[in-house]
Amino acid sequence: MGDYEKLLENLNLSREEPGAGTGSWLKCGGKLLHSVSPINGEVIGGVYTAEGEEYERIVSVAVDAFKEWRNVPAPKRGDIVRQIGNAMRANKEKLGSLISLEVGKIKTEGDGEVQEMIDIADFALGQSRMLYGKTMHSERKKHRMYEQWHPLGPIGVITAFNFPVAVWSWNAFIALIAGNTVIWKPSSVAPFSAIATMKIVWKVLKENGLPEGILSLLIGKRVDIGEALIKDDRIPLISATGSVSMGLHVSKEVAARLGRSILELGGNNGVIVSPSTDLDLAVRAIVFGALGTAGQRCTTIRRVIVHKEIYKAFVEALIQAYNRVQIGDPFANSTLMGPLINHGAVTSMQTALKKLKDQGGRIVYGGEVLSGGIYNAGTYVKPCICEAKADYPIVHEETFAPILYLIQYRTIDEAIRYHNEVPQGLSSAIFTNDIRESEIFLSHTGSDCGIANVNLGTSGAEIGGAFGGEKKTGGGREAGSDVWKTYMRRQTCTINWSNDIPLVQGVQFDIG
Ligand code: NAD
Repeated sequence: MGDYEKLLENLNLSREEPGAGTGSWLKCGGKLLHSVSPINGEVIGGVYTAEGEEYERIVSVAVDAFKEWRNVPAPKRGDIVRQIGNAMRANKEKLGSLISLEVGKIKTEGDGEVQEMIDIADFALGQSRMLYGKTMHSERKKHRMYEQWHPLGPIGVITAFNFPVAVWSWNAFIALIAGNTVIWKPSSVAPFSAIATMKIVWKVLKENGLPEGILSLLIGKRVDIGEALIKDDRIPLISATGSVSMGLHVSKEVAARLGRSILELGGNNGVIVSPSTDLDLAVRAIVFGALGTAGQRCTTIRRVIVHKEIYKAFVEALIQAYNRVQIGDPFANSTLMGPLINHGAVTSMQTALKKLKDQGGRIVYGGEVLSGGIYNAGTYVKPCICEAKADYPIVHEETFAPILYLIQYRTIDEAIRYHNEVPQGLSSAIFTNDIRESEIFLSHTGSDCGIANVNLGTSGAEIGGAFGGEKKTGGGREAGSDVWKTYMRRQTCTINWSNDIPLVQGVQFDIG
């Protein structure tokens, strides 16, 4: 796991840090929140949490900063994001290591998370010159119509533990080029990754002589900070990533004040494995999709719907592949699966497996909590493969752990029905060499998810596409495509360059 005191030093982090700031740190009145590494259970350090007074300061500075930032031309805002991306490039190795240390991702995934920030910075830079509005032909003579996009205001970004910094950047970099300021409430499980990120980005903002409050951080209790943020009328948009239960609450509170929300909630991602598939390719993709980030991605493969004819061969190949997966220290090159985030996650996994058995399912591989050596941290598990029926209640839930449910099907219609019958709708895939089947899967009667793939897994999305899902996943979209529009307000403009006032829809109103 290496010398993490040195790592903190290299990222300008102390063992105790304040949890709130706007460009410089505030003295926080709240309790010390400990960040514990799931790798060995050791405390990395403590963060003083923000309370009401700090909250007020952060929001008022972000509101003031918005008034200045929105006047910076969009391509110049893009250039600031470009510089932030370069600062991330320079710090990729260190920040990637801190992410691995704090949430237990294997090192290549910790570094990959920083790469995702760099990629979205590049995307945002290009987008900053493409905040296009349409022009329309007016039905009135000598009139011109067009639409334009204006900045929205300070945006609240709430993030989950499993992508402790990348999800913030998907929101923040697009929000920045749109002319907004951003207040970030990260997961309390990964406060140091957020603080290190802020230190890197604030340096860039300072070097450019920009005011405080363009990018702010708030770490604190849900009751003090989270609730205040979602209820605050000064914040027109809340982007919230996390569990479905969190999203149900956040959406209600934001809607109650007629605010906007982007909801990126839990997934329960399924793949269909057809008899025509290249089995080796499917197994390799499914192992990464099910075990990457130890099964703690919103896009993790949780259900595999396999054709009856190839079921036996598929299960044998999958078990062989699982046997080759090394579980252990995320910093060791040979490790493919690190720990779960904490003991609570291990308990949830064990509870889900008990429910599965009670509902008639069967474990065919793994599921145990590991012990001995590094495993004594109590956070390491053997990933689990189970046989289940599509309609078991537990199969309809997202358990944030490496449990894979195998379900057999006979016809493609049955496979799609099984696939779509869960409440979540994030990511999906089919493995097939039959073009008819893949077209059915991609059609409007096929997958009901926000992401649908053919011959690749459900996770590892590219930032160029719009990311998000349907149904209980919340309907939000982040990152690429035309998602920037959500972070701006649309204005439709009509200009009359005639000497008349013609009315539309044939209405006559002649005052002589
Ligand atoms: P979580 O719901 O426990 O917490 C997510 C965030 O919401 C945290 O910052 C938390 O403090 C905050 N929060 C919770 N209640 C709040 C409230 N009342 N007001 C304001 N903020 C509140 O989720 P988690 O355990 O950190 O992450 C795992 C979950 O996140 C999984 O369900 C996973 O699928 C989901 N997730 C979804 C996506 C996506 O893009 N769809 C991405 C990553 C994770």
